[in-house]
Amino acid sequence: IISPVAGLDDATNDIEEKIRPKYLKDYVGQPTVREQMEIFIPAAKARGEALDHVLIFGPPGLGKTTLSHIIANELNANLRQTSGPVLEKAGDLAALLTNLEENDVLFVDEIHRLSPVIEEILYPAMEDFQLDIMIGEGPAARSIKLDLPPFTLVGATTRAGLLTSPLRDRFGIVQRLEFYNVKDLTHIVKRAAGIINVEINDDGAAEIACRSRGTPRIANRLLRRVRDYAQVKSDGKITKEISDLALNMLNVDNLGFDHMDRRVLLAIMEKFDGGPVGVESIAAAIGEERGTIEDVIEPFLIQQGFLMRTPRGRVATRHAWQHFGLNAPKSSQE
Ligand code: ADP
Repeated sequence: IISPVAGLDDATNDIEEKIRPKYLKDYVGQPTVREQMEIFIPAAKARGEALDHVLIFGPPGLGKTTLSHIIANELNANLRQTSGPVLEKAGDLAALLTNLEENDVLFVDEIHRLSPVIEEILYPAMEDFQLDIMIGEGPAARSIKLDLPPFTLVGATTRAGLLTSPLRDRFGIVQRLEFYNVKDLTHIVKRAAGIINVEINDDGAAEIACRSRGTPRIANRLLRRVRDYAQVKSDGKITKEISDLALNMLNVDNLGFDHMDRRVLLAIMEKFDGGPVGVESIAAAIGEERGTIEDVIEPFLIQQGFLMRTPRGRVATRHAWQHFGLNAPKSSQE
């Protein structure tokens, strides 16, 4: 329930679409991103040009897809969506690009997972709005060049470091999304509750916000579950007490840690004496992929001060030992 990665529950949920903000004014938090986009978008619009290509990076569930939709809406442009792993053949990308209209937005999720062949085609498309592809095979093969309408590529990735540098260099605007603070998440919960017609008070919303791992996707999902609880166990109104009871029932930690967060921290503390330990060893100890630990689990633990990344490996901090009520071995105590 508290995974930041979109699950089927989110993908098939009409509610999610309804509460997804459509314009910048409704995009809560992320002040730097908003402040910059509130200048770049109107400027491009006033010039009648395509907005520079935008790279958005940040852990799952923080609003990358939402921001790409907002960019298209604010530009009054069409949005075409695809993702790195889906674009397998050069022809797939060519079809998408040649169908764009002037100043449209092409959103490529998981852009770090593009194949090298596709990346090569993307470079001239991004830089000169030129499509340069080979058609046919063997002696009959030839290269064709087509002009494309000016467009904006919006790429999303969980970590900027995963991108090749020639690709990264082609983005004029780079936005990094941060975990949300409790105040902003409370606002997000209240806004969503208003849209789905649930009565909620400030404390009830704040309780959900505190336990959402700094992530709007989780906040919205917890809101839906707490709503169910309130409906069955009480009069439908969400208060602090109801949120607390419902979230305890769902085993959501009071810091918003989920099962995987706990496993990573406990593995470091119990199996590796608190570290330093390499991420590969942690991955092996808990049977999780290294990439998931680095992209999904670690960023929040680091931001919350429970884990440190050091040159020699990961280290559990004093906070982590305290949170789990464990005693740190002498050597790792500060
Ligand atoms: P990502 O693409 O980064 O995984 P999404 O853009 O799909 O995340 O966001 C997940 C959900 O969180 C969205 O459906 C949206 O309702 C909500 N959300 C994300 N960012 C914000 C925000 N800044 N303000 C309000 N709601 C947000």
